[in-house]
Amino acid sequence: MTQEIQQNLKTVLQDIPSGVTLVAVSKTKPVELLQQAYEAGQRDFGENKAQEMAVKYQELPHDICWHFIGHLQTNKVKYIAPFVSLIHAVDSLKVLHEINKQAIINDRAIDCLLEFHIAEEESKFGLSRETASEILSSVEFKEMKNVRICGVMGMATYTSDEEKIRKEFRSLKEHFDFLKKGFFLNNSDFKEVSMGMSGDYLYAIEEGSTIVRVGSKIFGLRG
Ligand SMILES: *Cc1c(COP(=O)(O)O)cnc(C)c1O
Repeated sequence: MTQEIQQNLKTVLQDIPSGVTLVAVSKTKPVELLQQAYEAGQRDFGENKAQEMAVKYQELPHDICWHFIGHLQTNKVKYIAPFVSLIHAVDSLKVLHEINKQAIINDRAIDCLLEFHIAEEESKFGLSRETASEILSSVEFKEMKNVRICGVMGMATYTSDEEKIRKEFRSLKEHFDFLKKGFFLNNSDFKEVSMGMSGDYLYAIEEGSTIVRVGSKIFGLRG
């Protein structure tokens, strides 16, 4: 198994340019498997449950960058605020407010991405360009000193239709460019486009992704 994870990582990394960050999505996987990926040199891990991430943080080396990639409930922010590297899926002013509050309590700044709704499926979370602009224009946001908005995140429709996937990724890149121009022109923190999973990260990179989130292609489907 050790060799398998190392080989999978190597295979995935071969196709990822040096400017793109690989987040190994380790949700539901036991710490032993994360440890193996760590020993192969992987330092960025992605989780989607706050308490699970906090337990893994405790058990693994502290030079790991922890990415929270799931939908974050307000009452769970406190579990990850002390150590999280990047919260990928911020989709309301309310959760941003709580992240800022917990960041102040922990005397730090927390990096966040705004999640956009780019897929066809209605069930998926995410902002529209209008709501994102509203959040960024609000007085409440402008008064938040302990959150840093570093870019955008999105998930494409789960389909084998390459053109459709690319179109959705392109729309996320356009949202990024729009916000950059309107709100972050002189802000070098705003630089990330988090898109691409096991099935579509190569398309995502070609469409401008800077962070890919890959799970099953590294850790396998089960366990
Ligand atoms: C699970 C998950 C991934 C990884 O999915 P794979 O298809 O296993 O690579 C990426 N992003 C998010 C938001 C996820 O929940």
